[in-house]
Amino acid sequence: MKAAELNTLQQLLNDRGWHLRFNEELEREFQLDYAHRYYAHMQVAGIMGVIAFMACGILDLIWMREMAGRTWLIRMIAGVPMWGPLVLSFWGKFRQKIGERYMQLIICIFATSAVGGLIAISLNSTEPYNYYYYNAVTVAIVIVFVLSRIQFKWGIVSAIIMWLSLNVGLIAFGPESNKLAIIIITNYVFIGSAVSALIGTFLIERSLRQNYLQSRMLSLENRDLEESNLKLQYLSAIDGLTQVANRRSLDRNLSIEWQRALRKREPIGFIMADIDHFKIFNDTYGHQAGDECLRVVATSLKDYARRPGDLAARYGGEEFALVLTDSSAEQAGIVAEQIREKIMNVVIKYKKNDPTHVTASFGVASMVPGSGQATPEALILAADQAMYQAKRSGRNRVVIFGQSVDDQQGQRSQ
Ligand code: GH3
Ligand code: MG
Ligand code: MG
Repeated sequence: MKAAELNTLQQLLNDRGWHLRFNEELEREFQLDYAHRYYAHMQVAGIMGVIAFMACGILDLIWMREMAGRTWLIRMIAGVPMWGPLVLSFWGKFRQKIGERYMQLIICIFATSAVGGLIAISLNSTEPYNYYYYNAVTVAIVIVFVLSRIQFKWGIVSAIIMWLSLNVGLIAFGPESNKLAIIIITNYVFIGSAVSALIGTFLIERSLRQNYLQSRMLSLENRDLEESNLKLQYLSAIDGLTQVANRRSLDRNLSIEWQRALRKREPIGFIMADIDHFKIFNDTYGHQAGDECLRVVATSLKDYARRPGDLAARYGGEEFALVLTDSSAEQAGIVAEQIREKIMNVVIKYKKNDPTHVTASFGVASMVPGSGQATPEALILAADQAMYQAKRSGRNRVVIFGQSVDDQQGQRSQ
């Protein structure tokens, strides 16, 4: 899936973006990203455009005082589609619902109104000042198209509307003398500048599209890397066979929890479990059944790692460990007893083997970090010694470090 997307992106990049259009989904995302990224830019460009458009009205007052009333009226009318959406664009709801979604259309209307307004003024102005306005139209179209970053498609729409209104205006309201020559010259200049402006918008859009493709590829590759990193982290922390933590992450977890317990002055409980007569189990039922047995025991242990910081781990071979945060030896002993019973009652069935049971022996210890000789290693050693004591005293039992086996037998039978 991701490889396919990367492939498509690479192909589009190799295409050098001449088509200026992606497939439907990519196009939608590109347009949204574009609108999102350049929204503020458009607002600034829009403010500058409106100011420039209105400021040029001062020239009307200087050059064509007698016409200024009419040209200002045109500026006001053409200004509405410009400053209207501009003012609205600062309203969050408008931005969300309309501004970003129809940004290109709004830019198109804005650009067409600005240049259209100038065309209307040129047609109304008297010689020789009308030439200034015709020139202003050609300059404006280049500046407006480039500054507004209008996309090529919308640029064409806008240019065609401008061109049509220019020609309709010239034919209907243009000067009487030399009409044809004026139409030809005006068209020549307008088309020349419109084509240059459109080439500009095309090149800008093309490079923006390529940038988008590249940044999208980069973020896809980054995500891929992050995922493999997470997978690696997981793999390096988990025992593949039993899916509980491995020895390395047990050690890391224990030292982290040790520090936390040290700050809080809380005890850490540790349970060491070893499957009884596992060699015989393996020899009787085969190694694969043995593996299944390890998974069952691991799952039973995992169910008791309930608090944040608790961790069930495979200590090695058929030995498992359970770290219990904020647990005294007695509390950890109760948990160990529950796990012992649970394991004893689980039916292990592997393929055609007869259903069978296993038992395990448990050693339990608890220490308060910072007190006496307490270290994580000492805690593990204590649980290990207790576990061997459980083996020696008959297996399938829980021994708490520092308590005599008889005491515990007594406690259990009460
Ligand atoms: P005890 O009750 O004293 O613990 O006896 P035991 O047979 O369980 O102890 P021992 O340490 O002699 O045997 C452990 C066995 O565990 C030996 C080894 O074949 C088996 N074992 C260790 N790792 C794996 C494993 O990943 N898969 C399987 N199937 N067996 C394993
Ligand atoms: Mg064993
Ligand atoms: Mg063992």
